[in-house]
Amino acid sequence: MSVTQQQVLDALAKVMTPRGVALTSANVLSAIAVNDGKVFFSINVDAAEARAWENVRAHAENAVRALPGVTTAMIALTAERKPGAAPAARQGVPPVSSHRPPHSPAGSPMARQAEIPGIAAVIAVASGKGGVGKSTTALNLALGLRDSGLRVGLLDADIYGPSVPRLTGIREKPELNDERKMIPIVRFGLAIMSIGFLVEEDTAMIWRGPMVMSAITQMLRDVAWGTLDVLVVDMPPGTGDAQLTLAQNVPLKGAIIISTPQDLSLIDARRGLAMFKKVNVPVLGIVENMSYFQCPHCGTRSDIFGHGGARHEAERLGVPFLGEIPLHVAIRETSDAGNPVVVSEPDGPHAAIYRAIATNVREQLKGVIAAA
Ligand code: ADP
Repeated sequence: MSVTQQQVLDALAKVMTPRGVALTSANVLSAIAVNDGKVFFSINVDAAEARAWENVRAHAENAVRALPGVTTAMIALTAERKPGAAPAARQGVPPVSSHRPPHSPAGSPMARQAEIPGIAAVIAVASGKGGVGKSTTALNLALGLRDSGLRVGLLDADIYGPSVPRLTGIREKPELNDERKMIPIVRFGLAIMSIGFLVEEDTAMIWRGPMVMSAITQMLRDVAWGTLDVLVVDMPPGTGDAQLTLAQNVPLKGAIIISTPQDLSLIDARRGLAMFKKVNVPVLGIVENMSYFQCPHCGTRSDIFGHGGARHEAERLGVPFLGEIPLHVAIRETSDAGNPVVVSEPDGPHAAIYRAIATNVREQLKGVIAAA
């Protein structure tokens, strides 16, 4: 028997808030998504109240999890600072379901970010827009890093269209450990977590910026990642507020930008560079995806998109150029069949390209990984 939204609301009506009214009457709930035993919503309060509400979030989560038919409950506490208010951290208000304030003033965010215990380096894979192959590249890059002997995790934080379940063929749901942390699914030797394990890929999810942040924070910190050298985060596409907040709040050791050669996505890639620069996250480099067309029959290469733009752009901006990945049907077919090319054709030319990119990234992270 599947749980209904009304049952969730009834359970939440029994959770009291610091405002002296029930949670359902406090005017702080987002829309409640109930989908096949999975329940998702956020509680939105002012940052100054965050400490008092952390308990409410925990109670609400326990109440929902206790309902028969609930397999997963993910409740995010999002705290927005009122314009002009002092940052939460300076008021001594602790994090919102994390160890950091949800918003940090631009320019000084990195200093206050707590590392994630057990993870040496978190890196972001970003793109200015969707559909450029960001997720495919993130997964194959993670596999390339794995092949270099590192312990690697992949977090699909593309909350608007999580594609990692499709790209990896993972159908199962994460279980909870004794500390009620989600246990990542291990596939291809990677520890993998995706918001898509909790909601369906085609379920349109409308998230406001702070909700994105809070959900991602939970996936970073309320997941039993174990010991990892690198956690690759597949970011939501774009360079808007949600991405900026994310880049500010996740303790990133670097970012990789995926672009196609077309001018438009290069412009988007430039925005991505500017965004990471703003929050002092080093850009490890640009990857040009769908760089040229490679005929699956004769192997002939055609530069149908005016190839090479990303390399020039990287040179111009003084960031490393990590490599070119051809547009090839084998990459698309293997990705979409849940069997990424680095796994399905490990000795093929595409796997070699992803591994070369991974080697470059690993080299840049050498110090961080060794220090951990
Ligand atoms: P994004 O994460 O940027 O939205 P995806 O990784 O989901 O993009 O890729 C979008 C589509 O393009 C998928 O069908 C994927 O298989 C395909 N794709 C990605 N990179 C390549 C490539 N180099 N060659 C061929 N198809 C690709």
